[in-house]
Amino acid sequence: MIKKIFNYLLSLIFPIECISCKEEDTYLCTKCLNKIDINHDFKFKKNLKYIDKVHSATKYDNKLLQIAIHYFKFRYIKELVVPLSKIIIKYLEQEKIELTDYMLIPIPLHKKRYLERGFNQSELIATQLAKHFNLQIANNVLIRSINTPHQVGLNKKKRLNNLNEAFKVLKPELIKDKKIILIDDVVTTGSTLEEVAKTLIKAKVSNIIAITIAYD
Ligand SMILES: [Zn+2]
Repeated sequence: MIKKIFNYLLSLIFPIECISCKEEDTYLCTKCLNKIDINHDFKFKKNLKYIDKVHSATKYDNKLLQIAIHYFKFRYIKELVVPLSKIIIKYLEQEKIELTDYMLIPIPLHKKRYLERGFNQSELIATQLAKHFNLQIANNVLIRSINTPHQVGLNKKKRLNNLNEAFKVLKPELIKDKKIILIDDVVTTGSTLEEVAKTLIKAKVSNIIAITIAYD
């Protein structure tokens, strides 16, 4: 009850409205969400050593998508995970991507950044996908042991150095011989995904694909 009243008061100060058309009671309405095109012809061209395929549901150059992801990650509007995950679900269903027997692993945040944000955006996305496709999700199997500086502005080589040995598998027995889907919000060079994949291959997973909302 107290929480309800609190939320009501909060909604007077910060009304819940669509970030695009201002429709009430939703952060991203269906009409606006449907304006974000699904990507059908993009192929991730960068050479990845440890990942079989990167699937990205859409392009990051869509302004509305950029705002949605920004509000999700940096204004901490957790609720945006639902529409953002719907973009991925739509893509996976339209492209008929085979997900049977895969286990989801969200890209972990370092503890410090996790505490700052209060949630891991990739984990929230993975949870939505796990529910929708009835897949297992491996939380707390992989950690980010080094708090790497932001990747923005670094070239690929520097990004890889920056990430070297940044991830650690805590419970290798849970993922041994499993087919893995890595979940991240946006892929740029693929360096983070590759570094995680390298760590997972050492822990003897069978194979790895990656799924992101967008590619930049
Ligand atoms: Zn709208």
